[in-house]
Amino acid sequence: MSAFEGFPIEISPAFEGQRVRRKDMYVELGGPKIDYKFELVRVKPMDEVEDGKVEIIGPDLMDLKEGGSYPFAILIYVAGEKLDTDLEGVIERRIHMYTNYIEGIMHLNQRYDIWIRIAKKSVKKGLNSFSWWGRALITLFKSEMPYIEKMQVTFITDPELIKEKYEEALKIYEERDARVRGLKDEEVDMFYGCVLCQSFAPTHVCVITPERISLCGALTWLDARAAANIDPKGPNFPIPKGELLDPIKGEWSGANEVVAKRSLGEVTRVYLYSMFEYPHTSCGCFEAIAFYIPEVDGIGIVHRGFKGTAVNGLPFSTMAAQTGGGQQSEGFLGIGIEWMRSRKFFYADGGWNRIVWMPKDLKERVKDAIPPELYDKIATEEDATTIEDLKNFLLEKDHPVASKIREMEKAAEAEAKAEKVEEVAVQQPVQMPTMPQWTPQIPAQAIQMPAVSAQTGFKITLKGVKIKINRLIIKKAGGK
Ligand code: SF4
Ligand code: ZN
Repeated sequence: MSAFEGFPIEISPAFEGQRVRRKDMYVELGGPKIDYKFELVRVKPMDEVEDGKVEIIGPDLMDLKEGGSYPFAILIYVAGEKLDTDLEGVIERRIHMYTNYIEGIMHLNQRYDIWIRIAKKSVKKGLNSFSWWGRALITLFKSEMPYIEKMQVTFITDPELIKEKYEEALKIYEERDARVRGLKDEEVDMFYGCVLCQSFAPTHVCVITPERISLCGALTWLDARAAANIDPKGPNFPIPKGELLDPIKGEWSGANEVVAKRSLGEVTRVYLYSMFEYPHTSCGCFEAIAFYIPEVDGIGIVHRGFKGTAVNGLPFSTMAAQTGGGQQSEGFLGIGIEWMRSRKFFYADGGWNRIVWMPKDLKERVKDAIPPELYDKIATEEDATTIEDLKNFLLEKDHPVASKIREMEKAAEAEAKAEKVEEVAVQQPVQMPTMPQWTPQIPAQAIQMPAVSAQTGFKITLKGVKIKINRLIIKKAGGK
């Protein structure tokens, strides 16, 4: 008899990686439109956990209006002889994995960033209460992590209560992250890996070190170690460091070997402290994205909760598509926010000296980590919304990248002087090649394109324009 006998929907690892699109969803819980949401696991004494209990505080699934997005919290209490608080983060991260086993429930992200959608199809099949979800979680957790002897699950949809508990949850996440601060990469012989996200990003491997939290921000080195020890066959495993190949970029032979093996040969080198050349891969659940801004030779950072467009003109969601999927994409890197507090934060790329822009909320959140002399030199959306603004701001504040910007400007000026204004008069008959994928970076205001005259040829003058042309074909007027 299946453990899920009598359930209206199927529960199987086969559903991992499933997507529920907006048009197919019954409701959305958490996600980008909602400010207050979280999931939290706490280890409790045996007598404080009522095994098998599923509680719903606030409206249950069928009482939520179809098509809406709602504040949401999942609170799980576990107990067991072998359990201690070190394992809370690890158990909590599995909520993502096991929820995705449930047909028609999509779970993304972690901690205070969760984003869940429930499919209409599953509701039609009979998924009419959160209690099915809770029961499925309890069964899955207890069978996959047998050291959990008792478990109870509470779903909260009451917005006031979520808000209140949210603050408590943030404190607990912070305490977890703080435990590993101070421990150095040089001081341990073992890093740890995680492949939990391979169901969504098949070549992604997280390398977690004392000074580099996972990009989801949910697993510290201590968490990953605890997980690998208690469940050696699970998604977390030790990575012997091997030889230190580059202390600045953060390259170890052991990490390269394990990543190559676990990514099935797709990724063979990883720099743990850089976003260039061989950056760490990104799956999709990064807390923030670091993006390179070539015009100022600096790095911007945008967190998932930021609702506007970043200074490069792109919203988080667009950059997420560029960053994620398990590929190494130079110039884009998914990061855990706690990494910004690390000594090894972009160690190879200049660290904080290279950070030029981030949303105000994020800047406030990591204020303690920013060197005080740089704090006012890093722009937010209030200081700069375009690259031009940003350039001016950085020059005015004399940010560490300012000298590089001046150099680049000088070089550009010199180049412009050297180039004569090109005026090309072409005589008939015209034979112009087609131009593949030409994407110059020039502003749009000054295009002069006089009409083509078959008798006199034509003249094109492009001065300081910004156009994007994927293909330009010029044919003789009246020609075939
Ligand atoms: Fe594991 Fe990395 Fe995914 Fe976090 S982002 S769950 S550490 S693979
Ligand atoms: Zn992920």
